[in-house]
Amino acid sequence: MNKQQAQQQMKELRELLNQYGHEYYVRDNPSVPDSEYDRKMQELLQLEESFPEFITADSPTQRIGGEPLDAFQKVQHNVPMMSLGNAFNEGDLRDFARRAAQLTDEPVSFVCELKIDGLAVSLTYENGQFVRGATRGDGTTGEDITSNLRTIRSIPLSIQQENTIEVRGEAFMPHKSFLKLNEQREENGDEPFANPRNAAAGSLRQLNPKIAASRNLDIFLYGVGEWEAGTLASHSERLEYMQQLGFKTNPEWQRCDTIDEVIDYVTYWEQKRPELSYEIDGIVVKVDHLAQQEELGFTAKSPRWAIAYKFPAEEVVTTLRDIELSV
Ligand code: NAD
Repeated sequence: MNKQQAQQQMKELRELLNQYGHEYYVRDNPSVPDSEYDRKMQELLQLEESFPEFITADSPTQRIGGEPLDAFQKVQHNVPMMSLGNAFNEGDLRDFARRAAQLTDEPVSFVCELKIDGLAVSLTYENGQFVRGATRGDGTTGEDITSNLRTIRSIPLSIQQENTIEVRGEAFMPHKSFLKLNEQREENGDEPFANPRNAAAGSLRQLNPKIAASRNLDIFLYGVGEWEAGTLASHSERLEYMQQLGFKTNPEWQRCDTIDEVIDYVTYWEQKRPELSYEIDGIVVKVDHLAQQEELGFTAKSPRWAIAYKFPAEEVVTTLRDIELSV
């Protein structure tokens, strides 16, 4: 491919991916399966690596998520809510571990977590009270969806911690709620949601909290943003502390001392995935020690101390029937 062809190809990919991104992040209504989006994104990333002179500011490789909707108050994330780099096979995971080992002095251990397919949200507590809930938005500006998040019963409205803390996690719609909702929608002649992720996002980005309340959403918390409650040494300690405070963390996380253990965890969950009562689209692997996380730092879009392994592509946009067959 010559330079001119590459430039044209990159322009076409940017336009297509930006359109898909808008449908997915802003309208909660994707027109193509995630695998198709991921494939096109990899194609663009490879072209950008070979022809960095043609990278533009509007490239989806340079951005996180989508624009926040104007209907909601905006929330600034003082600690940015980032995306994650992707791994698609064992080799990518081993490369991730190798890079981490090269950049730090001590041996690296990891925490593996299920990658919940929902909507990333942030919950802020001041003087022990839940005061603000927001979407990730474009990573620096999200939407204030406090009233909708208050309807999720597993979110504590007060906690035993007076200092300001912000916890982050994934709000999601369990399969059962998704099936029920789409049945109702079909009965009412409404278009069913493409998948539980879009149903959860669509429910939380409604102006009327009664709608979110009727949708039986749930949440798993897996990280922190602003944190004025003293330091902990590792991500695993954070997960344990969040659980102690009354936050719902996913019980399946596991600490792994080697990348082989990580790969065993990935293989196990790739098989067990259909037995879960909620949707996952991969495994997130995080360097456990916070001092090592700090050493590794961030790229413009994502931390170098974490990676999202994506399960092999499902070739169709998940339909109600697919879900019915798998539960
Ligand atoms: P991502 O899905 O690759 O990973 C980052 C996100 O993972 C975080 O923001 C968080 O929300 C989530 N997550 C779930 N469990 C987690 C855990 N335990 N720890 C940490 N994070 C966890 O990145 P993204 O930027 O949110 O989305 C990109 C993906 O969205 C694409 O890879 C694609 O699959 C999908 N997408 C699809 C379309 C489409 O048209 N079908 C369009 C845009 C994006």
